[in-house]
Amino acid sequence: MTIARQLDIILAHGPELSAGGLDYYKLGLWAAGQPNSRILSLNPNLPPEELERRLRAFLHRDQPHTVLVAALDPHHRARHILRLLTEVMQVNPELISVVDLQEALGSPDPKACSITAHHLIGVNASMITRAQPITTQELPVTSRVLVWGDSFAALKAAVDLADLGYPVIQAYPGPALSPLLPGAAPAQPFGAELQDLITRVQSHSAIQLLPQTHLAEVLDSAGNFRVRLQTSQEVREEKVGAMILAPELSLSPGEAAAGAASHPRILTQSQLEDLLAAPEEPALLNPEADSRLRVAFLGGDSHPLALGRTLSSARGLLSRDNVQVMLFIRDAKVGAPDMEATLGQAQSSGLIVFKLPQLPTLALVDDRPRLSFFDPVMHEAESLACDLVVLDEVYRPAADNAALAEVLHLFPGPGRFLQGDNVRFLPVITNRRGVYVVGAGRGLMDLDQALAETDAAIVEVQQLLGRGTTIAPQGRSVVDRGSCVLCLTCHRVCPHGAVTWDNRAIINELACQGCGVCASQCPNDAIQIRNFTDDQVVAALETLDPRLTPRIIAFMCKNSAWEAYHAAIKLAPVNLPLGFTPLKMPCAGKIDIDYILKAFTYGADGVLVLACHQDNCKSQEGNLHAQWRVERAREMLADAGVDPRRLVFKTLAANTPQDFLAAVSSLAEVLGILKAA
Ligand code: SF4
Ligand code: SF4
Repeated sequence: MTIARQLDIILAHGPELSAGGLDYYKLGLWAAGQPNSRILSLNPNLPPEELERRLRAFLHRDQPHTVLVAALDPHHRARHILRLLTEVMQVNPELISVVDLQEALGSPDPKACSITAHHLIGVNASMITRAQPITTQELPVTSRVLVWGDSFAALKAAVDLADLGYPVIQAYPGPALSPLLPGAAPAQPFGAELQDLITRVQSHSAIQLLPQTHLAEVLDSAGNFRVRLQTSQEVREEKVGAMILAPELSLSPGEAAAGAASHPRILTQSQLEDLLAAPEEPALLNPEADSRLRVAFLGGDSHPLALGRTLSSARGLLSRDNVQVMLFIRDAKVGAPDMEATLGQAQSSGLIVFKLPQLPTLALVDDRPRLSFFDPVMHEAESLACDLVVLDEVYRPAADNAALAEVLHLFPGPGRFLQGDNVRFLPVITNRRGVYVVGAGRGLMDLDQALAETDAAIVEVQQLLGRGTTIAPQGRSVVDRGSCVLCLTCHRVCPHGAVTWDNRAIINELACQGCGVCASQCPNDAIQIRNFTDDQVVAALETLDPRLTPRIIAFMCKNSAWEAYHAAIKLAPVNLPLGFTPLKMPCAGKIDIDYILKAFTYGADGVLVLACHQDNCKSQEGNLHAQWRVERAREMLADAGVDPRRLVFKTLAANTPQDFLAAVSSLAEVLGILKAA
């Protein structure tokens, strides 16, 4: 155990510790014998007043304390002690190390239990006694918010923010506000509520409308973005604290329209809706004498919103006399509430549905549309003359989303939407703090969902901007300006857009999420993430005891593998290798190649690098950075004559303790084979 500063060790024990095979008395004696440390044995089940009295007597008054609390399942059993330390004794949480001794109980051998407990306490002591407190700071932020787009979600965001006292710039590319009601005919009049929303945006004194605007550049970070907006007249620079992106969808012809001739009897879905809503009976909708009007819809199944429009029109036609309606689709998207029932009702009303592997081909024969297709039910080619053919329209994300994502340094999602396909971003956040995406900005959805998401984004804005100031960590990510050579690698790799520069790199502490991706990439080691510093990792590696075998160092992302490890040690009985050393990382992207190589230098038999699954990394690519480094390190190990099978990269989810255990035992097995060879 290497202790850099005075350490107060609290062994929180009840009968359960000894009952598990761990000799608590001996553990206490061992801890008391460590240099630079004091020890308090404390039964966490004592009444709170007694716990407080004993803690006060133990911790020197008015002194900064570094505390290690060791217990079984400490966040549950020792929760009163932890609460007293942080809330009553005001110990900085960054200076408290919590050690779960559960892992030590995995072995039936009491000696092995003790060795594991010593090792766990030693590793954590070496890191926590090199920790620095992270304080908080109050930072001024700009209250103004940029709302991007003219969808109803954008309009609601603007009005709600303005009502809450946040000045709003609402910018959008079109010449006038033209929101779309998803799933309804574009020309359909809006209800009174939505019309009122438009009026309120237009008349609100705290909302500044900027039509025909493009986002040209975004500088600085959350709380104080500087945005350059290109309007039809000028480029203007504005300062905004946050942004809500809700660009409107566009409607464009679907697959069926490709190559279709222009003809009065070939309509788009919108044109048909206009005809059906016309005050006077359109001639096109009248069947000829002694015949039926045959209408064929092509496509319309790209999304339930599109299918809803198709079925609504089909049912409108079927309610008329002498009309036959057919729907040709490939794969009806009925995954919306009531859509399956709506389709069933339309079929009951007479709608004939053809599900085909390919849509029919459309030609004009004798000035009439004619469809040709192979009927998979009848097993024969069909040719069908129609009076009207209706081509589907597809909802697509706004055309300039790609440009918007690039300017904002967002990881875009699938299909040109603006939110990365990452479960950790749900519902409305992006990889950049202060940039939120709602409604059509992040996917196709109905109006209710889009408006509900707006509420979630507004809560985020309120938490970020407060009333002109906000609280941010102070000193969590630190650039050593003496070592920085302004190569801007950190700026390029930061997934959260938190790095700017003057004559040296500057980390914006409000935007920074402490992932450490920049620190592991900096060629000059000029960035340290406080409490995940290189010195701390080396100190932990120095605790490796050559008597413990096999020595497996596991570098684990705190968001996934660390959680899986803690879940695993609660599975009884868990018998991890004696030399297993768990090291928590803020993100797998922080795992420097030097850490891996040093682990072997300090005597590791094997190293595990455990990251989040793809599209689960909070820093989007931290897991990929880790994987690339492992691949490089394996090459270096091979060059140095070390079997690269000793180094393993795995991805895990927080709730998969069995995957964690499998990764450890698989490496242990490989190490056993290598040892025997
Ligand atoms: S990566 Fe390191 S050296 Fe390069 S700009 Fe950032 S802090 Fe400076
Ligand atoms: S720690 Fe992460 S979020 Fe912070 S500046 Fe570095 S890369 Fe960006």
